[in-house]
Amino acid sequence: MHATQPSDPLEDLLAGPSTSTTPSGDLALLGSVCAGCGARAFPARMTCHVCAGGRPAEAPVGSSGVLYSWTRVHVSATRDTPYALGYVDMDGAGDGGVRVLGLLDPVGAEWAVGDVVRVVATEGADDWSFTKDAR
Ligand SMILES: [Zn+2]
Repeated sequence: MHATQPSDPLEDLLAGPSTSTTPSGDLALLGSVCAGCGARAFPARMTCHVCAGGRPAEAPVGSSGVLYSWTRVHVSATRDTPYALGYVDMDGAGDGGVRVLGLLDPVGAEWAVGDVVRVVATEGADDWSFTKDAR
């Protein structure tokens, strides 16, 4: 019988899903936070992008945010077109705010800088996207 290796939380994070469900039932993105300087990142990183410290820990970066910029893509060799991409400044990361690039759904919506968006589950290769927050 083989002894099992103890699980490495950071390797599990990097290999695992990029989302979790909050206590209120919202879908949140999971990134990492540096123990040395507090910088957050999404996706999770092995080394801090600010101080180069190692072993950041798992941390949520939020379930909603504000659209910083966006574009609609009409030519792609890897996915059906058109699709919309946006940079979102996440609300849930405190002072170490995180700007996340993600798909915008639905692609044909009238998107505008400053729109409030939230993370939603999707099917297919991308397991989440942003949609307008109507709440
Ligand atoms: Zn750091």
